[in-house]
Amino acid sequence: MDPKDPDIERIRDQFDFVRSGRVVTNNAASTQPPRPLLDLYRSLIPFYENVHRGQSNASGWTTDRFEAAYDTIAQWLNAPSRRSIAAYRNTTEAHNAVMYSLLTEFRDGDNVVTTMLEHNSNYVPWHALTREILPRLGRRVQCRIARFDHATGRLDLDHLASLVDTRTKLICCTGASNFLGTKPPLPAIRAIADASGYPQPTGERRSRLLVDGAQLVPSSFVDVQALDLDYLSFSFHKMMAPFGVGILYAKEHLLASSLPFLYGGDMIADGQVFPDRVEYNELPWKFSAGTPNILGLIVSAQALRLAVDLIGADRRLYFRTEDPLPAPVVAATMQVIGRHTARLTERAMAALATVPGLRLLGVPAGGPRAPLVAFTVAGRSPFELAAALNELGVESRAGCHCATLAHHDLGLDPPASCRLSFYLYNNLTDVDRAVDAVRRVVATAP
Ligand code: PLP
Repeated sequence: MDPKDPDIERIRDQFDFVRSGRVVTNNAASTQPPRPLLDLYRSLIPFYENVHRGQSNASGWTTDRFEAAYDTIAQWLNAPSRRSIAAYRNTTEAHNAVMYSLLTEFRDGDNVVTTMLEHNSNYVPWHALTREILPRLGRRVQCRIARFDHATGRLDLDHLASLVDTRTKLICCTGASNFLGTKPPLPAIRAIADASGYPQPTGERRSRLLVDGAQLVPSSFVDVQALDLDYLSFSFHKMMAPFGVGILYAKEHLLASSLPFLYGGDMIADGQVFPDRVEYNELPWKFSAGTPNILGLIVSAQALRLAVDLIGADRRLYFRTEDPLPAPVVAATMQVIGRHTARLTERAMAALATVPGLRLLGVPAGGPRAPLVAFTVAGRSPFELAAALNELGVESRAGCHCATLAHHDLGLDPPASCRLSFYLYNNLTDVDRAVDAVRRVVATAP
């Protein structure tokens, strides 16, 4: 099969809710799980025991599957090894993990630079750090917020650069906005971070870069080495896997040098707990305190393998194996998913633009954009629109999508919009049905 042309109807067959007749277009919130993944989940249940906590065959078997899942995730991001992968519950927890593990490193007078485009999960932790936590510890650290262009949704790079100085420890930036679709140019932001000259305790003289990949990783190949990212976060529930697994990629030397976020069992070296000292476990287990979401992680890693097979990016099948995933196969898979979802988004934007009174928000058609589109309709509540769409069988989302800063900044009152978002299993008919429903709802008096 030509991997450039995925068989979307065959892919749709794997998703029961997608086949139910509903138009499943709220994928930026969470995607649907395919049947093979749910079958896998069920098939694991009769055999499992805890990881790193037993001498039985079952415990050894589960431990091997669990550790192999870390390898798969590292390969997906082209990370050097699993020593760079920390597993959490979601993207939000991953951001908090970075914040807490850096708590002791911030010096009086430092700053963090973030953007007005952020999801609350990549703003509120930095707000809390700089306004509440560090002041109580007697340190003054600023949180600076870079603007975006209201007409195009683009991040104002000049403004961002003007906020970065020799005291900028960290730049925290979205890889793709879940509201305006903006995909900030990561190499340019890396260059701004590199130029700061901030003296890190690890010896580098530059700001660190954290990228929120929650909306980027599901539709792009994110090569953490090529982009030279210090930290990358994402959630598996936005890429076919069950709820409950979020990933923090971090450069190995950063994980090695920073304090853990959570403390307790399994994150310490075997037998190395004494009244006067403890020794932490090797990476990545130093960042895995307590019993982890074992099945969730195993199934999440297999979701990546299933994506390759669904797209047909290689002659070999990877699902239910632990074979190494070559970076070109991952790149080819994500190129197909990215192109397909971009085509759906462009079609939706072109059609929505013709609906009377409807205002499209964010990146204009043709620009690099996450596969989602948010809009408002003059004189209509986004919540009322979304409720009416639901009645017509269309899944959408109304609200501020946790992109609260950007809603306020655009002057949306109330701070809310309606959003359609697309994934691999959506087809052109979904887009047309969703837009027809919007047209009908808008034409009907509230
Ligand atoms: N960042 C972005 C850009 C998101 O879209 C989301 C979720 O919608 C998050 C972070 C938070 O993800 P989670 O709820 O899995 O922590």
